Amino acid sequence: MRTPLIAGNWKLFKTLAEAKSLVDELAPLISKVQGVEVVVAPVFTAISTVAAAAEKTLIRVAAQDCYWEEEGAFTGEVSPKLLKDAGCSHVIIGHSERRQYFGETDETVNRKTKAALKAGLVVLLCVGETLAERESNATFSVIKTQVSGGLAGIPAADLAQVVIAYEPVWAIGTGQTASDEQAQEVHAFIRSLVAELYSSLEADALRILYGGSVKPENVKGLMSQADIDGALVGGASLKAESFAGIVRFQG
Ligand code: PEP
Repeated sequence: MRTPLIAGNWKLFKTLAEAKSLVDELAPLISKVQGVEVVVAPVFTAISTVAAAAEKTLIRVAAQDCYWEEEGAFTGEVSPKLLKDAGCSHVIIGHSERRQYFGETDETVNRKTKAALKAGLVVLLCVGETLAERESNATFSVIKTQVSGGLAGIPAADLAQVVIAYEPVWAIGTGQTASDEQAQEVHAFIRSLVAELYSSLEADALRILYGGSVKPENVKGLMSQADIDGALVGGASLKAESFAGIVRFQG
């Protein structure tokens, strides 16, 4: 019922030439995959190059962030409208690196999410607890605050354009993935929370991705969990072979 979505976050990597080669290498490796949505998120400067390279493939393009204003005197910012214009269909909002290094808060995540939805982008809204939060048994309260803060004021009709990515901070880029059961437990919690905030109809339709050291070797176990609908992949998305291995999780 929920179409699996595998997204690659390229972070601050890849020149234009490297970004294009990665798409050119990836596309034939996943051309036979059916029933899986595939998204890659290059740096802003490579969005239009990647969108052009991906045009006749099943790969879609996401930005790694956006601003909430459409235009104006906001030096250095990029609006959802311009991301769409450059070839994006998706945008990642609230990644833990933005929360950690760039002062992203649930309030800015919420403003960006509303603006991106208004522009017609699909939002990959990231949430996740730190190691200290997990160790002090605060995981569920942190996730509840981030999910309800990020979705505040977003009408049920727009929720179909939102995907939540659960990315425990301690699992990102560390090689230490959450166990299938640890991930499933939080995904089920997020779904029940969305059922409370909206209804079970919206909650059942919501896609929840897992992120944090996903690799071809562990994707199958994660994807076999009832509430895991895809993956947000960092390091392993930078090489065509490993990202394709994740996209081909079904066989
Ligand atoms: C990420 O950056 O969203 C991520 C999950 O990174 P990695 O796969 O490298 O842990």
